[in-house]
Amino acid sequence: MTGYILESLQTPITHECDVLVAGGGIAGVSAAIAAARQGAKVILLEKQFMLGGLATAGLITIYLPLCDGKGHQVSFGLAEELFRLSIKYGYEAGYPTAWLVEQNKEALEARKKQRFDVRFNAQLFAIAMEQLLKKEGVTILYGATVCSVQVEKDKISSLIIENKSGRSAVKAKSVVDATGDADICMMAGEDTELFAEKNALAAWYYSAGKKGFQLNMLGVIDISDEENDGTMEKLIPKTFQGVCGEELSEMVQLAHDAILDDFLKKQAKDETLLPTTFATIPQVRMTRRLSGKYTMTLEDERKEFADSVGIISNWKKRGPIYEIPFGALHGTKIKNLITAGRSISAEDSMWDVTRVIPACAVTGEAAGTAAALSDDFEVLDISVLQGCLEKAGVKLFICNN
Ligand SMILES: Cc1cc2nc3c(=O)[nH]c(=O)nc-3n(C[C@H](O)[C@H](O)[C@H](O)COP(=O)(O)OP(=O)(O)OC[C@H]3O[C@@H](n4cnc5c(N)ncnc54)[C@H](O)[C@@H]3O)c2cc1C
Repeated sequence: MTGYILESLQTPITHECDVLVAGGGIAGVSAAIAAARQGAKVILLEKQFMLGGLATAGLITIYLPLCDGKGHQVSFGLAEELFRLSIKYGYEAGYPTAWLVEQNKEALEARKKQRFDVRFNAQLFAIAMEQLLKKEGVTILYGATVCSVQVEKDKISSLIIENKSGRSAVKAKSVVDATGDADICMMAGEDTELFAEKNALAAWYYSAGKKGFQLNMLGVIDISDEENDGTMEKLIPKTFQGVCGEELSEMVQLAHDAILDDFLKKQAKDETLLPTTFATIPQVRMTRRLSGKYTMTLEDERKEFADSVGIISNWKKRGPIYEIPFGALHGTKIKNLITAGRSISAEDSMWDVTRVIPACAVTGEAAGTAAALSDDFEVLDISVLQGCLEKAGVKLFICNN
């Protein structure tokens, strides 16, 4: 920092809505669909020019399991709907035949071995989500970065955005923070926490060559404990917090260096090889999260929560499943602010479970539904929220599963 300047601002109000979703990753998309289906007027703000966040622009094209690894599906509702949408127009690898095609006795046995996951195509999934949001009546504002919040009493009255038209305010009754980094929570003064371990460098890219179309997952990859033989090495020793502009710029440049190195090594063996896509948003896993009314831990495995809003599995291990309590989605300071996706309230080890794509869809659906029902999450009647979620096909309680 080299000092301050004083700006004098008069910001035009350009939009008004019931539910304002900040961030168009899997959590934001789920929240927007869920809120629109409750009849709310919804605006989704996304700073990129595509939907999907890390899952698409970040090239994280593996929809981790909807099942517990023992043959039972645990995540339903939008988590399953988006899973099917991700492969509606084609998939890249690992089609879950035992789950989507065969329904016979052998398939039920096969489900104990084959997990309910898939590798989708980023571009097709991004377009399919956009089509769905338009069909549901959601207004998408691309290229819109939320840069400030207006808080009046204990509620957010508007988010300030900057886009090609300049700076403007979007007024809303309730707000879903689906920025992945709890940006809105932080700006509004909610309690937040940083991920202590920070992020290892990841540099995923696609290439085409003699072996066909390949996803090159450079850097520590997300593999289950079963597959992890302890030989995974970091690309570089340095780690990244992911909430500082300069640090993220450096991280992305280091990822590009790693991609070029890897490509040149592989090109020496295959002269036809060419990189086709690299991530256009920083590949960070856990950065900043809400410190909510309830903070989940790994000890919450199979724990019953009266305020459960959905169930997720543990992608790293077969067996463990978790009800998500509503209290992990909201804080205690800003009444009309809720979060979803990789920024919900979970201790570091549990955060690794709650951050993945199916969990983001589960928490997004819960947050969007809640935001359509209320502008005060502290006093929202949980049974009404749960009734809406169940009507939408979400399974809430492990004991009924
Ligand atoms: C290297 C790596 C490997 C992974 N592997 C897997 C895997 O195999 N399978 C799996 O299921 N998950 C995996 N994950 C995790 C998963 O991809 C993400 O955690 C998940 O997609 C996050 O979704 P989200 O919607 O919470 O957040 P994000 O995808 O981060 O979406 C947030 C969106 O908000 C937008 N945004 C942010 N700030 C603002 C702002 N101020 N104004 C407007 N818009 C804003 C961003 O542009 C982005 O589109 C991996 C992650 C990484 C980094």
